[in-house]
This record gives sequence, structure tokens and C-alpha cells, in this order.
Amino acid sequence: MQPAITTGETGDRLRAKGIKPSVIRIKVLQYLLENRVHPAVDTIYRALLKEIPTLSKTSIYNTLKALNSKGMIMEIMTPGGEIRYDGYPARHAHFMCLKCGAIKDVSLSCATCLTHGTEGLKVTEEAVYLKGYCKKCSEKLKISNRKS
Ligand SMILES: [Zn+2]
Ligand SMILES: [Zn+2]
Repeated sequence: MQPAITTGETGDRLRAKGIKPSVIRIKVLQYLLENRVHPAVDTIYRALLKEIPTLSKTSIYNTLKALNSKGMIMEIMTPGGEIRYDGYPARHAHFMCLKCGAIKDVSLSCATCLTHGTEGLKVTEEAVYLKGYCKKCSEKLKISNRKS
């Protein structure tokens, strides 16, 4: 678990990237840093609406776009074509559950993965996806297999 991050720290991070720290920007970034579930726009919207009643989904989209353009967050495309957001742009891979849609962080320590076929290429983005069934779902699947 990451330690909680203060509003002031979040504001400083935004300022360091040249983004004006508005309330919405601070709240969205803070939500992503504190909730490592890779939420969709709807999830962020519903969570923050309680704190900012005047919030619109468009303003969240715009905020996410701004944060993403500065490399502060990552966009992840699920197998179902849904865009989810990640507040940790540092190198890591994602495991996606095909049953419940959960996205989990997987650490990626392999520094030599990209040794073949990358000669002459300028890599600007790296995404590693693992798909399968999460622990909960694979346990459920085992039970249903036994019954049938
Ligand atoms: Zn699952
Ligand atoms: Zn992640």
C-alpha cells in the first residue's frame, strides 16, 4: 500500500509538470494515486461527485487527457475496449481478469525484454498485458468445474 498523499503534495506534482493545480486536477490525480484499481472515467466521476457536486464528466475527461499528455498517468485499454486509468506511470505490467474485469499491477523487472527487433526503433511507450483469471475467479471456476 502506498502512503496517503496530501493535497499539497499532489498540487506540487502538478506544478512540477507545468499543470495548473485546479481542485478537479488535484482530486482526480489524488484519487488515482490512492485507488490503484485502474478505474474507468465513470468510477472516478461517481467517487468525486460526492466531494465536488458541480463536477462534470467532461471536466474529468479533460483532466485525464492533460495528466496523460504530461506522462503523469497511463491509459489502459481492457480486452473489452474500455479505457481505464492508472496513476502510476512507472514501469509495470498489467494482469487483466477475463471474468470480473479486475486489473492488477504486476511488477516488471525484466530489463532485457526488449532486446530483439528493437534495433533502430525509438520506443516511446511500453505496455505489457497479461490476461487470464484472477485468484478469486479461478477459485470460483474450480468449484463450478467440480460440480459439472
Ligand atoms: Zn476475476
Ligand atoms: Zn497499473
